[in-house]
Amino acid sequence: MKAVVYHAPGDIRVEDRPEPTPTEDNLIVEIHCCAICGTDLKLATVGNPRCHPPRIIGHELVGHISHVGSQVQGFAVGERITLATTLACGDCQHCDLGLGNMCPNAKPISYDFDGGFSERLAIPSMAVAGGNVIKVPDSVSDEAAALSEPLSCVINALELAGVKAGDGVLIIGGGPLGALHAEATKALGAKEVMIVQRSEPRLSLLRELDGVRVIDGLREDVMSVVRERTGGLGADVVSVCAPTREAQEDSIHFARKGGTVSLFASLPKDAPDITLNSRVVHYGELRIVGASDSRPEHVVRAVQLMAEGKIDTAPIITHRIPLEDIHEGLDLMKNKQSLKVLVYPPRR
Ligand SMILES: [Zn+2]
Ligand SMILES: [Zn+2]
Repeated sequence: MKAVVYHAPGDIRVEDRPEPTPTEDNLIVEIHCCAICGTDLKLATVGNPRCHPPRIIGHELVGHISHVGSQVQGFAVGERITLATTLACGDCQHCDLGLGNMCPNAKPISYDFDGGFSERLAIPSMAVAGGNVIKVPDSVSDEAAALSEPLSCVINALELAGVKAGDGVLIIGGGPLGALHAEATKALGAKEVMIVQRSEPRLSLLRELDGVRVIDGLREDVMSVVRERTGGLGADVVSVCAPTREAQEDSIHFARKGGTVSLFASLPKDAPDITLNSRVVHYGELRIVGASDSRPEHVVRAVQLMAEGKIDTAPIITHRIPLEDIHEGLDLMKNKQSLKVLVYPPRR
C-alpha cells in the first residue's frame, strides 16, 4: 500500500509499504482522509527526535474499521472512527493526575506507531485500552471528522483559558489552528471573536468564517479594534496561535484586567525566550496559561460539537490533495497558502 514515510529531518517519501497485520488485539482501519498538521510540517523540515523512522506519519485521520480482533470489545466492522493520537501509559504520576497528554511514557500515533497518510492503519491495543479510538456519528462528515484531533487541542486550550459564554476573545495568528480557535470560541458562546492575521491569502480565507472580526495586523491598529469591540476593556481571553516571540510578547497588552492569555503555539526550541512586561501581568492580575496536545475526552467533545453543527469546517478546509502530492501539501502549509489541507489515499 502507498504511504507517506518519515526517514529523517526533512526527508519525507511516498513509498510502498507492507499492509498492516490484523491481530487478535488490534483494529485495522481503512483511511478515508487525513489532514496535514503543523507537526507533520515540522518533520518535513526540522524533524523531531520523538518520531522513530522509518515511520508512516499523519494523525488527523478518519476511516472505517475493516478488522476487529477477537479480543477487542465495543467496536464493529464498518464503524467510522477518529483518534486521540497521544497514547498515554495510564500508569504514571501524570496519568494519575489526569494529564495523559503530558505522560512521559506516551507513545503518539505517527511517532511510535504508524499513522494515517496511508491506505490502511493498524490501531494498537494500547489505543483501544486507553479510550483513544473515538466513534464518529453519521451526522459528522469525513472532512469534519478529520479535524476532530486539531479541534480537540483547541478545546483543551479554551478549557484551560476558561473561555465562556459572553466573552470577547482575541486570537493572534490566523493559520488553521487559529481558524479552529475562532469556530470553537463561537461554539462556546463567545460574544466577540476577533482574529489577527498579517498575510494573504489567509486574510481572505478567514473572512469566509461567519461572525468573526478579521483584523489585518499590518494595516489596522489591533489595539483600537480590540478596545472598540470590548467596550474599551480589552479581551477576556487572548489566544496566541502564531509561533512567534513578538506575538507572545504583545499578547498581554490586549487582555483586559483580570483576563487570561493562552500561549497555544510553541516557539522554536533554539529561541524559546520572551521578554514579559511583568507590571502588566501584576497590576492587571492576568493569568497566563499554556496548552499542549489533548486527551481522549477533548476529542469526544470535538466530535460532539461537530455533531451538534456548532463547528463550520467548510471554510477551514481549503485544499484536498491525493497522497502522492504530499510535498505540494506541505509546501502550501509552509508558505501559508492554505488553512487545512486534506490528504486522500488512493481508492482501491
Ligand atoms: Zn495534529
Ligand atoms: Zn503515563
